[in-house]
Amino acid sequence: MIQLEGISKRYKNGKLVTTAVDDVSLTINKGDIFGIIGHSGAGKSTLIRCVNLLERPTEGRVIVGGTDLTALKSGMLQDARKRIGMIFQHFNLLTTATVRANVAFPLELAKMPRAQIRTRVDELLKLVGLSEHGDKYPAQLSGGQKQRVGIARALANNPHVLLCDEATSALDPQTTSSILSLLLDINRQLGITILLITHEMNVIRSICNRVAVMDRGRVVETGDVLDVFLKP
Ligand code: ADP
Ligand code: ADP
Repeated sequence: MIQLEGISKRYKNGKLVTTAVDDVSLTINKGDIFGIIGHSGAGKSTLIRCVNLLERPTEGRVIVGGTDLTALKSGMLQDARKRIGMIFQHFNLLTTATVRANVAFPLELAKMPRAQIRTRVDELLKLVGLSEHGDKYPAQLSGGQKQRVGIARALANNPHVLLCDEATSALDPQTTSSILSLLLDINRQLGITILLITHEMNVIRSICNRVAVMDRGRVVETGDVLDVFLKP
């Protein structure tokens, strides 16, 4: 489903070059909940942003659903990106827009007719358990509710893949569990492949089937979660 082939990302600031990601190759299969774990600064955030080309890798290829995204021109890339949802640690909601308007936003960008948007937004709010909160503003919601809005927005265009950038790191343990169980439902019921990054082992243990461990830009271990973490 997602193939990362020889991905490197280097940042240049004057003469200083930081290698954030160093020759990473990974295969994420359809239906996986694939977790990437590592300490702060390991390169996880840079790597996950390379998957939808929020960051363009300095080297390497990103192949999603058989399409080499790194080879696409901007129009085609925008279309391909619509099928890759993403959620963030700090939710990245539009603070001046209601919950409904936040979820509708990607559908408006995709030029969906207004009546269809209304129906789709109802469906998405129901899926994430926010049917009663559509007219509220983000500031009126708890952290977990804000992340549910993020999830609804990310799923609006029926993505095949959901990228989660430290999606539960700003949440308390109980809220984290409820968001993780929603992600598990989304994976099981909608068949969406999930790639997440986290610095928390609990997240990997509770929902991932596959894991990669990153350290200083490189993947140092990869495999089934049970093999990598639970064997003596
Ligand atoms: P993680 O998500 O694992 O905490 P990051 O991908 O955020 O790691 O960062 C990996 C390394 O790349 C760090 O040393 C970080 O400071 C550096 N880095 C990330 N983004 C940039 C940037 N835009 N410019 C320069 N260095 C960056
Ligand atoms: P998060 O952990 O919430 O993803 P980060 O602190 O890793 O946030 O990064 C926030 C933003 O700052 C990102 O866009 C990242 O690319 C950028 N960034 C991170 N480290 C550096 C750095 N050393 N120099 C410049 N930009 C950086």
